[in-house]
Amino acid sequence: MVTDLQLRISPEAAADNDGLRHAAAAALRVSFADVAAVQIVRRSLDVRHKMPMVQLQLKVYTGASQPEPPPLHFNYQNVDDKPPVIIAGAGPAGLFAALKLLEKGFKPVILERGKTVSERKYDIARLVREQTVNPDSNRCFGEGGAGTFSDGKLYTRSNKRGNIDEVLRQLVFHGADPNILIEAHPHIGTDKLPRIVANIRQTITAHGGEYHFDTRVTNLIVKDNTVVGVEDAQGRRYEGIAVVLATGHSARDMYELFYRNGWALEAKPFAMGVRAEHPQALINDIQYGKNHRLLPPAEYALTAQTGERDVFSFCMCPGGVISASLYCRRRNSG
Ligand SMILES: Cc1cc2nc3c(=O)[nH]c(=O)nc-3n(C[C@H](O)[C@H](O)[C@H](O)COP(=O)(O)OP(=O)(O)OC[C@H]3O[C@@H](n4cnc5c(N)ncnc54)[C@H](O)[C@@H]3O)c2cc1C
Repeated sequence: MVTDLQLRISPEAAADNDGLRHAAAAALRVSFADVAAVQIVRRSLDVRHKMPMVQLQLKVYTGASQPEPPPLHFNYQNVDDKPPVIIAGAGPAGLFAALKLLEKGFKPVILERGKTVSERKYDIARLVREQTVNPDSNRCFGEGGAGTFSDGKLYTRSNKRGNIDEVLRQLVFHGADPNILIEAHPHIGTDKLPRIVANIRQTITAHGGEYHFDTRVTNLIVKDNTVVGVEDAQGRRYEGIAVVLATGHSARDMYELFYRNGWALEAKPFAMGVRAEHPQALINDIQYGKNHRLLPPAEYALTAQTGERDVFSFCMCPGGVISASLYCRRRNSG
């Protein structure tokens, strides 16, 4: 039998599988031996009171029942001889579009101005050490896109973002920790993201998709008022049944291309931000008191309403570092 259960327990009990089984058995008034397994569906930390507590949404399996592993099977088809779709940009938008195309039976042809994620590391190291910027391979440009060398936070305030669970499962399929499926505030980890991006490339190419690195898209090919392909900086042309422009917010040359040609471009509403820095130890003390043991670096969020505007802290990076990220051409730089 499977029973849904909500538990609020100490971090110590939550960290110990037997402790969890004991707590579940007590809550359901059954014996410890009756609990065959406990599966965490959602985990969050409640630090509103003096003692931080872990809030758990559980499925408790009693008798002969056992949890099913999360569904990590995707119907990627072999698309070698299928109609090509041209994707400009190998950031998250381009990569997840490509994975969806594999499922739908179209051949993604990815054109990326930068380098592979492992080669990109060297350009970023040069940026940090020598302050030399490669305009096509830096923190914003290259395989994986803008956030590749970040913590990879995976949560959003919006509930209109489509099937978030599917994206999380795709990430687990490509090597992310399965805990991201249950954490209230999941993140991938700076050390793991590049490997996951490389694994996604492996999936795409193994099923017949194509990657072209060092390929900067500079123009769209338009026939009979329809976009049928793109042209790159070397004058090479790539045509397909559709074009996905996934060049991200830092690709100013794309905005200029649209502006020059009088093509419609819709501005998104945007938020303006400021950065505040605090020592992690201070945040830990404020949030946890002195009870840091077994707890991750503490986070916080602030929200306020001023008139019709919401003011909120967008993202907190426990233990984060500040590093140069943007490439600004002199003409555009402030
Ligand atoms: C330092 C940093 C940390 C971040 N951390 C997080 C986080 O933890 N969680 C989170 O949710 N978001 C984070 N973000 C934001 C997140 O990275 C972006 O929202 C996301 O990358 C946008 O995805 P995208 O695919 O639309 O664009 P991008 O990631 O910008 O990808 C665009 C891709 O297109 C390529 N490209 C650009 N122009 C051309 C062209 N002309 N021809 C061919 N290719 C081109 C680029 O090289 C790039 O690979 C972070 C961003 C930065 C900069």
